[in-house]
Amino acid sequence: MVKLKHCPFCGGEARGWCRSATINLADEIDYNGYVSCSRCPAKMRSTYQHVTGAEAIADAARNWNARAGGAPAASHLDQEA
Ligand SMILES: [Zn+2]
Repeated sequence: MVKLKHCPFCGGEARGWCRSATINLADEIDYNGYVSCSRCPAKMRSTYQHVTGAEAIADAARNWNARAGGAPAASHLDQEA
């Protein structure tokens, strides 16, 4: 599980969640992942839809962490995709 950085706008705690979106051609449910701040309206979505909620959340978490920036020592963790 990707560790979420704090909100870049207010420093609040971020949390990941997902929502089922559509049934794809293989009869699987696609999920959209989201990461949102618990204190302000900041929100980030996954780039793609995924067949598991966990993967969708991980995708959104990568996007969130890339925007949140942070300590240079941890920046290489965002380059895996
Ligand atoms: Zn915030």
